[in-house]
Amino acid sequence: MDLKDKVVVITGGGRGLGRAMALELANKGARLALVDLNQDDLDETLNQVKAAGSDGRTYVCNVSKEAEVEALFESIVADMGGLNGLVNNAGITRDGLFIKVKDGEIVSKMSMDQWNLVMDVNLTGTFLCAREAAAQMIKNKQEGCIINISSISRSGNMGQTNYTATKAGVEAMAVTWAKELARYGIRAASIAPGYIGTEMVMAMKEEAREKIAAGIPAKRLGKPEEIAHTVSFILENDYVSGRCFEVDGGLRI
Ligand code: NAD
Repeated sequence: MDLKDKVVVITGGGRGLGRAMALELANKGARLALVDLNQDDLDETLNQVKAAGSDGRTYVCNVSKEAEVEALFESIVADMGGLNGLVNNAGITRDGLFIKVKDGEIVSKMSMDQWNLVMDVNLTGTFLCAREAAAQMIKNKQEGCIINISSISRSGNMGQTNYTATKAGVEAMAVTWAKELARYGIRAASIAPGYIGTEMVMAMKEEAREKIAAGIPAKRLGKPEEIAHTVSFILENDYVSGRCFEVDGGLRI
């Protein structure tokens, strides 16, 4: 796909990896539909997109709400004249041990709130956005591509029962969509980032960051631009579909 003038939706586009993706795609001439919960964050990303010489629109939407997501994709197509790409990037964590034991006694269990919140945003949000994006692409006879942002944690990680389940799920859904939607000219893939130096991670104490970096074969955290670059690679390469790209500096947990 030549990204010039293509419409790409990025959920969680207000900050972090989503913002880096928006800037990478803006530099390639794509028009961005930026989706997030916070209008101020969205405005800042859109300003940066404009400074990079492209354009877009912002949409406040909770990706876990079916009616909001249905209306979102109707609006995007009406406002922007079509839809060619979706990056399912919005995601949250609510970490905690599955079972916490102290002095032989169970002191806590992962709660249903911790479970449901992460399921709602990461898994249901990805399902809903992809479903509505694919429906619009098929209705408008537009070729397209859907990218799910998974994580290195998809193989299992301490304290992340809820998160790891969703990140394995979004990878598997991309494989299913690649198989089901190819006949409509729609591709799907996923990216599993390792530890990436987003603002939040960079705000950690240097000592803590150095400790994480020391355990990575590349001996450094990933840069948001390196994940963004993988997004544009997948969008641009029409023979890529159904696979998960691990971008983690060689780390496997
Ligand atoms: P972030 O918290 O900086 O950004 C996530 C964005 O998603 C935020 O702007 C947030 O407002 C938005 N969001 C959250 N819930 C939403 C909802 N219900 N509806 C719409 N928007 C919502 O996180 P990030 O580090 O940029 O991570 C982006 C994605 O990459 C996530 O899916 C995360 O799991 C994944 N990831 C990140 C890393 C990393 O090291 N940063 C590593 C692996 C995977």
